[in-house]
Amino acid sequence: MSDNCIFCKIINGQIPANKLYEDDELLAFWDISPQAPKHFLLIPKKHISGPGAIKEEDEQLIGRLTRKAGDLARENGVSSFRLVFNEGPEAGQTVFHIHMHVLGGRAMSWPPG
Ligand code: 5GP
Ligand code: ZN
Repeated sequence: MSDNCIFCKIINGQIPANKLYEDDELLAFWDISPQAPKHFLLIPKKHISGPGAIKEEDEQLIGRLTRKAGDLARENGVSSFRLVFNEGPEAGQTVFHIHMHVLGGRAMSWPPG
C-alpha cells in the first residue's frame, strides 16, 4: 500500500472498479478509458512503481501476472491481444503502480505511437 496511489485504493476498496479477476496477489479490472473493445489492466496487489522497479524477489509474481493476462484475455473472448507496460512519463505512464494493459478486439498497428 502506497499513500495516494489510485490503484492501491482500488485494491483496498476505497475507489470502485469494474473487476474481472481477483486473488490474493493479483487484481484485474476494466480500464476506465478503453483504447480497444477489450481493454483491462492487470496489477499485482504489491505496490511496485513500474516495470523499471521490478526486483528479483518479484520475478515469480510478474511471471504469474503475465501468464494470467493470457488466460483472462482468452476467457474474455480475445485470442489475439497486446500486452503493454509503460515506464515513465515519456512512455505514457500516468499511474505509478505497475499495471499491464491487456488490449484486444481490434486490429493494431506497429510501431505504437
Ligand atoms: P498508464 O498511462 O499509466 O500506462 O495507464 C494508466 C491507465 O489507468 C489508463 O489507461 C487509465 O485510463 C487507467 N485508469 C486511471 N485511473 C483509473 C481508474 O480510476 N479506474 C480505472 N478502471 N482505470 C483507470
Ligand atoms: Zn499502489
